[in-house]
Amino acid sequence: METRQSKAMFAEAEKVIPGGVNSPVRACRSVGCTPLFIERADGASLYDVDGNRYLDFVCSWGPMILGHAHPEVVAAIGAAAAAGTSFGAPTPAEITLAEMVVEAVPSVEKVRFVNSGTEATMSAARLARGYTGRSMVVKFDGCYHGHADSFLVKAGSGLLTLGIPGSPGVPEDIVKNTLSIPYNDIDSLEKTLTDERLDIACVIVEPVAGNMGCVLPDPAFLQRLRTLSTERGIVLIFDEVITGFRLAYGGAQHHFGITPDLTCLGKIIGGGLPVGAYGGRAEIMDQIAPDGPVYQAGTLSGNPLAMAAGIATLKQLQRPGFYEELNDKAATCAQRLREIAAAGDIPVQINSIGSLMTMFFSTDPVTDFASAMKADTTRYAEHYCNMLGQGIYLAPSQFEVAFISAAHSANDLEKLQKMTEWSFKKMAD
Ligand code: PLP
Repeated sequence: METRQSKAMFAEAEKVIPGGVNSPVRACRSVGCTPLFIERADGASLYDVDGNRYLDFVCSWGPMILGHAHPEVVAAIGAAAAAGTSFGAPTPAEITLAEMVVEAVPSVEKVRFVNSGTEATMSAARLARGYTGRSMVVKFDGCYHGHADSFLVKAGSGLLTLGIPGSPGVPEDIVKNTLSIPYNDIDSLEKTLTDERLDIACVIVEPVAGNMGCVLPDPAFLQRLRTLSTERGIVLIFDEVITGFRLAYGGAQHHFGITPDLTCLGKIIGGGLPVGAYGGRAEIMDQIAPDGPVYQAGTLSGNPLAMAAGIATLKQLQRPGFYEELNDKAATCAQRLREIAAAGDIPVQINSIGSLMTMFFSTDPVTDFASAMKADTTRYAEHYCNMLGQGIYLAPSQFEVAFISAAHSANDLEKLQKMTEWSFKKMAD
């Protein structure tokens, strides 16, 4: 595939944008490529500046559950833009989207809109600290909650070793209030949450992990997390920035039947525009300014274009059978890929749930960060390049999920399967 224009643009971009990109994974370094520059997208297809077409399994990292440029969403954004792009004052659309979120997500009685998932988790942690008067945030290894300082923490070596900064620029003073413990490990969860010496304000978790690749929760782990948090007066935060309106209309909490105290949302609720949200029990949410003392604000929060895109997207998701159809076709595709892998010589583990999936190049089941890290990233890079050359656009990292959208047709998924089979044969030669 000819990508001369993309290469030239990347060289130009590198001069004025750090690494040539506005979010690091887009630089494609872990798969040894340079990024494609995208000109437009439509349904399940992306078109780069060289005129190549790709079947898109990144879906803008999750928001595009309806596929790209859905006519209803585009029309809603157009109508909103024509009426003015930002007022810095309340609008009717904010109430509509808030009511839709409250109705959909079991834990949410009140919701505050922000501009990104990062803002949502950062604000939720502040609220939990303000509400409880405690300091410590507990998270899980391999879960990503955006790039606020408190969450950029690497696990320390022992259970009670406090986190170490995950990036230069994050002061140790901040991360000493964050603990990172293994995902799906009920023992360490039990020890941490019952430790009297820790002043735990909240536990934040991806109810299905999507940022070490797709890692499913042991339902007993989520249940224990809920029980222990309740017993200890710890605020349980579900980070549903990926899983919200993705696993089900009511998110992972609806799917697993476990209700957190606070929920963070993003991606799908903005229909492809910049949005985040955090919500939960009214008693906790009422601690936010101006009702309460916990400060949080935003010039563009509740932006009318983003609200319009979110409302139009959620309306489509309310169609009877939407999730059954999407999840069924994704499950069938994952199963077919497992059969293809089993017939070939390449050991892979395919973790999937709903319309999320990761193919780990590993011989062992992937259940946490340590097992995810055993995946063969060199093999993934080879597979990625094979697929890209055939017009299949996968995430440029082993530790991400593939998203299936409503716009992927049976033919599109069949193409993914055929090309996977071909790539595996090529790798085995
Ligand atoms: N939380 C989760 C689970 C995410 O996957 C992400 C981003 O991918 C975030 C938070 C941060 O969201 P944003 O990139 O919108 O800041």
